[in-house]
Amino acid sequence: MRIDIMTLFPEMCRTVFSESIIGRAVAKGIIEINAVNIRDFSADKHNRVDDTPYGGGMGMLMQAQPIYDCYCHIKDEMNAVPHVIYMSPQGKVLTQERAKELSKLDNIVILCGHYEGVDERILEEIVDEEISIGDYVLTGGELPALVLTDCIARMIDGVLPNAEAYSGESHFNVLLEHPQYTKPFSWHGKTVPEVLISGHHANIDEWKRQESIRRTFERRPELLDKASLSKKDCLFLQKIKSETKKTD
Ligand code: SAM
Repeated sequence: MRIDIMTLFPEMCRTVFSESIIGRAVAKGIIEINAVNIRDFSADKHNRVDDTPYGGGMGMLMQAQPIYDCYCHIKDEMNAVPHVIYMSPQGKVLTQERAKELSKLDNIVILCGHYEGVDERILEEIVDEEISIGDYVLTGGELPALVLTDCIARMIDGVLPNAEAYSGESHFNVLLEHPQYTKPFSWHGKTVPEVLISGHHANIDEWKRQESIRRTFERRPELLDKASLSKKDCLFLQKIKSETKKTD
């Protein structure tokens, strides 16, 4: 997979993608991530990429021309028509499910806005989809683009040691993950649940499943409507629901 991020601040992106798990995947060539400076495509003699909004109002808007020329350059280099995403607080909020679908594509281009955003006409011209990382506003699209790229990249074969490394985590199969513990067995007077050191794999799996359901019920009960639960899971859920009612 190749992901190109169109940005006015490429160094912000490069720093993140040269580190840790994603940095190693890039170094091994498992995934290609490029940060492309939109300013390099400005047709203005002073390299301007923004101007005041028509109709008045606060701040500056990124102009369509440098973004369009940047996009055409990337598309020619890719020799393919990429899926183009604009990071925007007005887009659909990112979910694990959408990231899973995006991780199957070969070429993605991400546009980062800045200032007050971008000229609407560039969105109509090149953008396939707008994605938000939550209902709040940031100064620029770089952090959202990094969040999206990281979320997609870790599901690409070879980035993590195996699919189990991400498929058991919160949100992958809707539910939140069960609590986790590492050594030492006892810390600050708190011990690890005995079942986890029993060596009985079936009991351990059952405990993990039930604690995952309990945690989802306690923290994000609305997710349970979308989860695929077995008869046994439903019985356990009923049990914790009735225990909660008794203590209310
Ligand atoms: N004027 C825009 C509005 O009210 O919808 C907000 C512009 S924001 C200050 C500047 C840029 O940051 C946006 O163009 C977008 O690329 C990015 N951005 C800000 N918040 C975001 C969010 N929650 N998710 C994704 N991108 C965001």
